[in-house]
Amino acid sequence: MFVYCIIMNRQDIIIAVDGHSSTGKSTFAKKVAARYGLIYVDTGALYRGVTLAAIRAGFGDNLLEIDVEKLKIVLSQTDIRFLPSATGGGSELYLNGENIEREIRTLEVASRVSIFASIPVVREFVDSILKELGKKRGVVMDGRDIGTVVFPDADLKIFMTADPQVRAMRRYKEIIARNEEANYEDVLSNVIERDHMDENRETAPLRRAEDAIFLDNSDMTQEDEMVWIEKIISQRWG
Ligand code: C5P
Repeated sequence: MFVYCIIMNRQDIIIAVDGHSSTGKSTFAKKVAARYGLIYVDTGALYRGVTLAAIRAGFGDNLLEIDVEKLKIVLSQTDIRFLPSATGGGSELYLNGENIEREIRTLEVASRVSIFASIPVVREFVDSILKELGKKRGVVMDGRDIGTVVFPDADLKIFMTADPQVRAMRRYKEIIARNEEANYEDVLSNVIERDHMDENRETAPLRRAEDAIFLDNSDMTQEDEMVWIEKIISQRWG
């Protein structure tokens, strides 16, 4: 297809997908990447991976009690990277050689990740990984600060949101589908709390970049989203 070829020729293209928690950013970004032959990078997974490393190193969840110097040492011993998935397409996250794809999706990690993501040394650590990944070739990255901080010159920026109840219900169904236990009210509180922390932290708070296109998908299906983005991409590059 015409649009596909044009984007494929732009080896350096960066599409930033930012927005609130559980808006389906990763599913959307993954599909866009597959559709246009780009690499998908789940930046939230890296923050989750660092959080898991910190939990395992014995850090608690009181921000004021976190010893940043000790955290720096843990980060210097942390090798975190995406490797191709053994079970099919895409990639999975590894922490010092261990596949942590499942562990990073637990509510325990979800309930602490925004705390660790607010710490400047953690953001610097993740940003350096993202800058390297962005250098390689065309990418679609989803996160909170991709269009504002990590790649302010991204070629296309999308800001996603949806009603918190809709988001919590989607996340709740995902957890149940994995045969894990969940309580809808806990998931809803986690979604609201993470939005609050992400929007109010000092370093790289969640903001809609001025040039980001707004997408509220409360009443949209994944198919609707693809029709929406294909129109935008063909208007921009077609
Ligand atoms: O996208 P996901 O929900 O997996 O992100 C987990 C958490 O990581 C977010 O709630 C946010 O605190 C943090 N995050 C961030 N900046 C990013 C991506 C994620 O602060 N670019």
